[in-house]
Amino acid sequence: MRKKVIAGNWKMNLTFAEAQRLAASIKEDAGSYKHDVMLCPPFPYLTGLSQELQGSTIALGAQNCADRENGAFTGEVSAAMLASISIPYVIIGHSERRMYYHESHEVLKDKVGIALSNGLKPIFCCGETKEIRLAENAELHVDKQLDDSLFHLSDDDIQRVIIAYEPVWAIGTGLTATAQQAQDMHKFIRARLSGRYGAPIAERIIILYGGSVKPDNAAELFSQPDVDGGLIGGASLKAEDFKAIIKSI
Ligand code: PEP
Repeated sequence: MRKKVIAGNWKMNLTFAEAQRLAASIKEDAGSYKHDVMLCPPFPYLTGLSQELQGSTIALGAQNCADRENGAFTGEVSAAMLASISIPYVIIGHSERRMYYHESHEVLKDKVGIALSNGLKPIFCCGETKEIRLAENAELHVDKQLDDSLFHLSDDDIQRVIIAYEPVWAIGTGLTATAQQAQDMHKFIRARLSGRYGAPIAERIIILYGGSVKPDNAAELFSQPDVDGGLIGGASLKAEDFKAIIKSI
């Protein structure tokens, strides 16, 4: 049985005081959560929030890491730095990074490798744009994203990766993939994992759905057999909504 994971991606939002209040409110109910919960705040809040969340099972993840080990890369944050403050997870390849910061498959492949070699678990995002879906090339596109940045990994390393399927047309738009659309793509991703690594490994890998998940659509999405939870953007900024999503599974 795969565990279910609910991760909140706060993106570039909130002051530190707001972030502390949000984390404290999510922590308040942690005793009743039956699934793994993770928060991905902006870099400067990671240390403060680790203290805030001490004693709870809520994990922290970063939203990005550099594609280099260390050195003269002003403004970057390395995987080693995240590991040195005990951050277990890092989001890699979010569509906003691919789109606004032009992160290529090669860069993402390097980031995945560096995250893993520093002991972090990557949450690798993939997903198609509206144009690609309308042209009926969604599977082909996601397949290539997996092939280009993940499928070089060893059997051991791939099992330390969480995959997040996030159709770009559903992120922050209020448009959600139907439960069937999500299940179809998750099933496809698992089949590709199975083709590359074999069924026992594919069955162990967590595949999250992301894209306008809200309290009223979460239960149906998360009840699909290959949907192992969600990566939540907008709704993770409201404690009540995020908690309702966690409890909807
Ligand atoms: C995201 O950015 O990962 C995301 C899924 O955002 P939203 O839930 O706001 O669509």
